[in-house]
This record gives sequence, structure tokens and C-alpha cells, in this order.
Amino acid sequence: MSIETLVENPHIPAESAPVLSAPFDRASFDDCVMTTYGRFPLALEKGEGCRVWDTEGREYLDFVAGIATCTLGHAHPALVETVTRQIQTLHHVSNLYYIPVQGQLAQWLVEHSCADRVFFCNSGAEANEGAIKLARKYAHTVLKITNPVILTAHASFHGRTLATITATGQPKYQKNFDPLMPGFHYVPYNDIEGLKNAIVDIDTGDRRVCAILLEALQGEGGVRPGDVEYFQQVREICDENGILLILDEVQVGMGRSGKFWGYENLGIEPDIFTSAKGLGGGIPIGATLCKQFCAVFQPGDHASTYGGNPFACAAALTVCQTLERENILQNVQDRGEQLRTGLRAIASKYPNHIVEVRGWGLINGMELKADIELTSADVVKAAMAEGLLLVPAGPKVLRFVPPLIVSAAEVDRALQAVEKALAALV
Ligand SMILES: *Cc1c(COP(=O)(O)O)cnc(C)c1O
Repeated sequence: MSIETLVENPHIPAESAPVLSAPFDRASFDDCVMTTYGRFPLALEKGEGCRVWDTEGREYLDFVAGIATCTLGHAHPALVETVTRQIQTLHHVSNLYYIPVQGQLAQWLVEHSCADRVFFCNSGAEANEGAIKLARKYAHTVLKITNPVILTAHASFHGRTLATITATGQPKYQKNFDPLMPGFHYVPYNDIEGLKNAIVDIDTGDRRVCAILLEALQGEGGVRPGDVEYFQQVREICDENGILLILDEVQVGMGRSGKFWGYENLGIEPDIFTSAKGLGGGIPIGATLCKQFCAVFQPGDHASTYGGNPFACAAALTVCQTLERENILQNVQDRGEQLRTGLRAIASKYPNHIVEVRGWGLINGMELKADIELTSADVVKAAMAEGLLLVPAGPKVLRFVPPLIVSAAEVDRALQAVEKALAALV
């Protein structure tokens, strides 16, 4: 159906058709939109593949991808086809009814992960809220813990709702939002002794650790991959003590690490894990996934009006099927290797400025020295001037999270832009 036929529809008066593109008015934007973001002075209005264009018509190579979200890049034909077809067929109904495509997506996820069950929501924070509620219900009803505690890691990131900023082990996200949620305790990441000590300290009387929530690779906290040995020991501790292992796969999951799930890089399986960002390729969707033994939700326990609607599920199913059909994980591994090799070659020219390059697949970080003035935001701005979009992961780490379909030529161009940006700064 064309726009013309839509406008001719007698139920939709022509004057109600929205103005699809007005000239960008930054002053009114700044007047009306809440000041929650420190925005770069760049207004984007078009994208294709790994490229985006600003309102001045300038082209950028997009190594941000909506922060590790646009799995298939921009305007991918398969995604365009799916969402166009789905909006014309059925875009939203309630979970009061069966939604067939939601079932298909759940089946795909179950068949391609260690999970048996899926709950759909709309974002990473909401997926983590679901995981926290599931773990608490399991603690109360199965483990019989009256005062359950969830351990999370320093420098972690789990979202911006009250429960998830509490779970997030970074005070800057919590400041001025107290009182925080009770029932959380922080441990150092990749430090098994710290974890063991915390469990001994907490387990007193009716207060006990019911779950450990970790990222397989810490994204926002500075692109820090989990240690294989640490995670294997965490898994053992959970098994020995009946503690649930929850992994937040919101950023590292859905193929970004070169495997479908971050935990596959660690040789372990979680009991519960969460997905969002890359799952819908830019269409909002999140998921809480779990094994059968801890699938304790009953009707009425948890819900989300939009969660798992046909539009979002069709988009996510297309992302999943395209990843598989086009063998995109191989591209993620190859391009990731190429990117890290290139970044390490650049880093070797700046031993006084760059600490290291690290990451898995297409989630990579370049860490700047702590004792110099240069920040990741400085390099992001300089790279933007060279036509490359990057995003910081904290004040000292530059993050590279391009669409998973990025080409070898595009990785080369990005490397050249980083090289020029650094040369301009140093
Ligand atoms: C982005 C992110 C979240 C929050 O996701 P939203 O969709 O912004 O709520 C949670 N956990 C991790 C690891 C993330 O990277």
C-alpha cells in the first residue's frame, strides 16, 4: 500500500498525515527534549548499510550502530521487507492472545541457546528487571530464602530503571536517585576470591545469596572480557550452593562476540540470561531467557503491554534468520580479527597514549592511558571530523561496535580514520 492510498483512506483525513521531514531545528529540540544526554552536535537523518548521513548531507562510517544495536546495519533489505509487511498485516495485539510470530522467535532463541523459555519485553533494562524478579521468585518459592541477595560486579552496567541502576556497580548512575533497591551487593569483576568472600559475608541467618548477575564481557564498563577460568569457577560455586547464574547478554549477545551468545566464549551456560540491543536490529525488543528448572513465573506474575508484539518479533526473527542464513558470525570473527590487528598496529605507534586493544568479535575497546589528558571523548570528536562515528565506554576507552555486516574495506577505512584522528590530537 502506498502513502497515497493511506491518505485517501476515509478513516484518515489527509490533513492528519504527519509531516515526515521538516528542516532540523536544533534550538527547539534543545528547548523541548529533556537534557538527559550530552549530545554531539550532529543530526542524523539517513542510513544505509554501515553508513549514515547528517542533515548537511555529510557521510559517516557508523561504528556505533545505535550502540551495538543495528545488527544488520541501516535499511537492510530483509528488515525493510519484514517490517513493511508486518505493519500492513498486524503490528500490535495483546498477550491476552497467542501471537504466532512470538512463538517462532521464542523457538528460534531456544534452539540457538541454552535456554528453554523466553519472556519478551522492550529493552535491556526491562529484560534485566524480568531476570531479577524471576531470581527473587525462585529464591522465595524454591530456595526458601526470605531475604535474597543478588551479587553484581563493580563497573557493570545493567540499565537505568531503579532496580537496574542498583544492580549496576557504578555510583555515577545511582547518584541522587536513592533510596536504591535493597538486595544487591557488589563484587570485583574477574576476581574469584572477592566473590567467595562476599558469599561468606552475606550468608547469615535468613539473608542469603540467591543469584550472581554478570556480563560475559563488560560493555559500558570499558569493554572488559570475562576470564574463562573465573566464569568456570563462578559456575561451580553456583552449582555447589544452589545459586542462580544470570548473564546480562544485552550488549555482547546476538552474534556480536562472534558466537551467538557471549557465554559461549567462556565455556559455561547461565541459568538465566537477557538480550535486547542487537536482538531487533534497532527495532525495540528485549528478552529474559531461562532454563526450565527456574521458569517459575505463573500467569499474573509479570507482563509488558508491548512485550513480544508481532512487529518487534517479526523484526527480531528476521535478524536471527539473516544472521544464520548469511553466516554473519564468520564475518564477525574475521572483521573483528582485522580490526584488532589494525588497532594494535596503531597502538604500537602511540605507546605513551594507548594501553591496549581488547575485545571479542565486533565488540572492541582501545584503552587510553590514565595519566594523560587525552580522553575517549576527545578521540570520538576527532574521529567524527574524519567521518567515523565511535562511542566511548567510560572516560578512557574507545568502543568499536559496527554493524555485524561490516566489510573488510569499511574496517580499513575506519582504521585510517582512527589513525588520522590520533595524529591530529597527539
Ligand atoms: C545497554 C545495556 C543495558 C540497558 O539496555 P536498555 O535497552 O538501554 O535498557 C543493560 N545491560 C547491558 C549490558 C547493556 O549494555
